[in-house]
Amino acid sequence: MQRVTLLAGGVGGAKMAEGFDALGDVDLSVIGNIADDAAFHGLWVSPDIDTLTYSLAGRIDRAQGWGVADEALRALGVLGELGNDTWMTLGDRDFGLHIYRTHALQQGQSRSEIAAHVAQVFGVKSQIILPTDDVVQTRVRTADGWLSFQEYFVREQCQPDVLELGFDGIKAARPTAAALNAISTADLIVIAPSNPLVSIDPILNVPGIRAAMAAASAPKIAVSPLIDGKVVKGPADRMMTALGLRADALGVAQHYGDLIDTMVIDHADAALVGPINALGISAKCAQTLMKDLGDKSALASAILAGVR
Ligand code: GDP
Ligand code: CA
Repeated sequence: MQRVTLLAGGVGGAKMAEGFDALGDVDLSVIGNIADDAAFHGLWVSPDIDTLTYSLAGRIDRAQGWGVADEALRALGVLGELGNDTWMTLGDRDFGLHIYRTHALQQGQSRSEIAAHVAQVFGVKSQIILPTDDVVQTRVRTADGWLSFQEYFVREQCQPDVLELGFDGIKAARPTAAALNAISTADLIVIAPSNPLVSIDPILNVPGIRAAMAAASAPKIAVSPLIDGKVVKGPADRMMTALGLRADALGVAQHYGDLIDTMVIDHADAALVGPINALGISAKCAQTLMKDLGDKSALASAILAGVR
C-alpha cells in the first residue's frame, strides 16, 4: 500500500483524486481547499470540499463537474421569490448537506469532523482532510474593489481583471493535525492540476503547511493545470498573467519552485522539459487531460510509476 497525499482544489483536484482513489494499492488522503467557503442564505457552503466528496462518492453531476447529479432547484426558487440573491446555484440535495454542516457547526463540531463524517456516510474510501479548521477566505481585488471569491467566480463569471489576491484569516489560521500528519507520513505527495493561485496557495499558505511540505521525506510532484498554455476550464491562465507569472506549465513550475521535485506536464508541452529541468525540477510528460475514469487512473498510475 502506497500512502499518497494529494493537495487539491475543486474540479481539477477532484479528477486527480478520483484517479488515485480508483487504484487498489493506494491509501489516498486528499487535503482540500477551504478558501472558497462562504455563507449563503445563512448556511455554510464549502464548494471545493463538496466537489471532492461528491466526486469520490459518485454523486457528482458529471456533465458540469460540480454539484449533485439528478438535482432540482426548488429551494433556490423559493429563496429567489422571497428576495434573496440566487446567482450561487445551490440545488435541493446540495442544500441538505449545507443545512447539515451548518447545524453541526452550531453544535460545536469542527469543519474537518463534519467533512470526514459526510465523506464516510457517503461511502468515500479515501480520507478528505481540511488544511485548517479556521475560516480562511479568498478575496479578489478588481477595478471595482475587493470581491469575495464566489462573487468574482460565479456572480461575475471571472470577467473582471484580477489586480490582487488576498486570503482573509490565513495568518491566524492553525493547520490541522491530520493535514500535517498526511504530509509527514506520505510516501508520495502530489499537487493536483488545480488553480495554483486560488486552490493550492490557500492550502500551502496556512501557517505550518509549507514547512511540513519542505520537511517531508516523500517525493513531491505537481501536475500542471495548464496544457499548451491554456486552461481546461477556469481563470488560472488569466490570473497568472495578471499577477506577472507565465501562463504555462513553466510558469506553474516557477511558482511552486523548491517545493516540488517533479513536474508532470502534458505531451503537448514537451518543449518545456528543458526549461523546467533548468529550474532544478525534473519534468515528465504524460497525458494530463482527464476526460474519463480511465484517463484519471492512467495518469495516477503514471505518476506512481514515475517515482518508483
Ligand atoms: P476549481 O476549484 O473547481 O476551480 O478547480 P481546481 O482549482 O481544482 O482546478 C481548476 C484547474 O484544473 C484549471 O486550471 C483547469 O485547467 C484544470 N483542469 C481541469 N481539468 C483538467 C484535466 O483534465 N487535466 C489538467 N491537466 N488540468 C485540468
Ligand atoms: Ca475552487
